[in-house]
Amino acid sequence: MNITIIGTGYVGLVTGACLAELGNHVVCLDIDQFKIKLLNSGAIPIHEPGLEEVVARNRDAGRLHFSTDVVASVAHGELQFIAVGTPPNEDGSADLQYVLAAARNIGRHMVGFKVIVDKSTVPVGTADRVKACVQAELDARGERAAFSVVSNPEFLKEGAAVEDFMRPDRIVIGCDATPEGERARNLMRKLYSPFNRNHERTFWMDVRSAEFTKYAANAMLATRISFMNELANLADQVGADIEAVRYGIGSDPRIGHSFLYAGAGYGGSCFPKDVQALERTAREYDQELLILRAVEQVNHKQKLVLGLKIAKRFGHDLRGKHFAVWGLAFKPNTDDMREAPARVLIKQLLDDGASVAVYDPVAMKEARRVLALDLSAGDMARVRFAVSPMDALTDAEALVIVTEWKAFRSPDFERIKLALKQAIVFDGRNLFRPDLMAEAGFEYHGIGRSILT
Ligand code: NAD
Repeated sequence: MNITIIGTGYVGLVTGACLAELGNHVVCLDIDQFKIKLLNSGAIPIHEPGLEEVVARNRDAGRLHFSTDVVASVAHGELQFIAVGTPPNEDGSADLQYVLAAARNIGRHMVGFKVIVDKSTVPVGTADRVKACVQAELDARGERAAFSVVSNPEFLKEGAAVEDFMRPDRIVIGCDATPEGERARNLMRKLYSPFNRNHERTFWMDVRSAEFTKYAANAMLATRISFMNELANLADQVGADIEAVRYGIGSDPRIGHSFLYAGAGYGGSCFPKDVQALERTAREYDQELLILRAVEQVNHKQKLVLGLKIAKRFGHDLRGKHFAVWGLAFKPNTDDMREAPARVLIKQLLDDGASVAVYDPVAMKEARRVLALDLSAGDMARVRFAVSPMDALTDAEALVIVTEWKAFRSPDFERIKLALKQAIVFDGRNLFRPDLMAEAGFEYHGIGRSILT
């Protein structure tokens, strides 16, 4: 099938590359000329395991093209995927300017039937707005081409995006009950049929339910994290180990083990903005989502917890003190630092007068970029970008772990002890066992693990 992907970011690039891998002819369009130039030169702009190979293979096979040419891109695909960003407005609502601009471009140039697929995460009712934009452009041209707007939200996880796209646990598709909607459903069924060979993974529903499903999923996941974080802080007070509690409750199949980890708060481009956007949608209907408001507040506080633990141990005046920070990306296997807890921690430490040496296996370049935006030049001068995890430790009072990269899970503790000024670890992801850390001679501060012995 001929497919156009509008927006070549995390979701657009992965979607385009994976659909090309299945034999489709894909054009990925973006307004960012630098990104398209980079992709056409053979490089890829993001770190995502396995993606580079899939992109290269399909580009070389002539099934995957990158373009800034709107007219040619709209002409190419019978399916037009909109995968542009939906960042938060100041009031928390989703900013739909990029989605609607993409819709207008389709309407301005399309001839013949098109299926317009909303893959971006968009509030309930957005498909109707996309439809109105496309129709207005068609009317302005006196063009009578038929089209249908479908909702097909994306559930991939950064860091495992190719794997998630190729082996989805579900595909959600919302179509409307019109003849055009029926035609769109048939094309979507054909497109996704390779994913449904072993068993049916597609959930067909109406458009609004599909739009809602994406927000409900992210809101549920964010709720689990904030729930565990709030209990972890209580565990610290009462002298319990949240990790033991996690095993204890996760074994109940109604609860399950996944996504129950206490830590330094959630970040990334999705949970924070999607929780806010859902709350905002509810407010438009005079409903307040009390649970989600609490989820957000808890997360905001949780991003401060590591810094507060350090202040409790070393005092609020950290002038002359130096700390090592391992893990900058908002989660492992990505270089994405959007809303990353490490950004909050680094700012806290610098505000209290400390200096830091930071290390991440893949996000160093991105860290230089975002920290330069977060920090003043003076504060930036107190950040050293280390070349290895061990290099970051030199002369540090303590090691602070913010992202649970695999490479940090079994480090050489003897070398860590030798490199640090004091054998102190603040573990924002509960990677280590407190008893083993004590045995190894470390003062250990996890999240929710201040067990009374
Ligand atoms: P991104 O910021 O990485 O990429 C968006 C791209 O769209 C950018 O390259 C931008 O230049 C381009 N763009 C903007 N306007 C355009 C236009 N009019 N025409 C062509 N290109 C245009 O964003 P992302 O992380 O890929 O997210 C995209 C959407 O998918 C968002 O709604 C997001 O919530 C959702 N989503 C993201 C993830 C994730 O893990 N990143 C997962 C599921 C869903």
